[in-house]
Amino acid sequence: MKNEFIFKRNEVLAKDVIDALIKRNFDAFYCEDIKSANEKILELISKEDVVSFGGSTTLDEIGIKNILYDKGYKIIDRDKAKSTREKQELTIKSLSCDTFLMSANAISKDGQIVNIDGLGNRVAALCFGPKKVIMVCSVNKIESDLDCAIKRARNYAAPINAKRIDSINQMNTPCILKGSCFDCKSETSICSQILITRLSRPKGRINVILVNEELGF
Ligand code: SF4
Repeated sequence: MKNEFIFKRNEVLAKDVIDALIKRNFDAFYCEDIKSANEKILELISKEDVVSFGGSTTLDEIGIKNILYDKGYKIIDRDKAKSTREKQELTIKSLSCDTFLMSANAISKDGQIVNIDGLGNRVAALCFGPKKVIMVCSVNKIESDLDCAIKRARNYAAPINAKRIDSINQMNTPCILKGSCFDCKSETSICSQILITRLSRPKGRINVILVNEELGF
């Protein structure tokens, strides 16, 4: 059940962050719940677009992939690959899609976006390639400044994500055992790349949807 005081606090916070994002040339939107976030995503994607995704618990939780499949969008989905080779090919192909959906690991109040990646495909698509990026992000990922956003991404989001990935492919990174980052140099580290996105260039290429519900981690 939603706590109205937390909801109101997050609403005003999100609106300030949206103003900060717009000043940095992002297109940014506030959605009060998952339903309105999915409606906004559909509004932003043209029916002719080829769509792809970065790995994201937030996207899984809002159910947007199934909605796009049900509506008949053309989708590049590496999770449908039947072999490692096909997965690699689809991952590369997704870098030239029309619209790439993902989440963020943290956003600072002044509108800077932090993402950590193991292979780098997700941050690569964010930097360059897809014509449009749509980032869906819960208000619980907003941090007071860039340092706190990086700390959140490294010491909170990454260890949980490492544990999630470990449940599929064994990783054995130290953060799985201890719950915070040990700055590992492991071959299986999910933190090869740490990206700070401080502007959208071209203007409006990166769209950020802030959702006033707790999503992802
Ligand atoms: S211990 Fe390694 S994999 Fe885990 S959060 Fe730190 S750098 Fe990433």
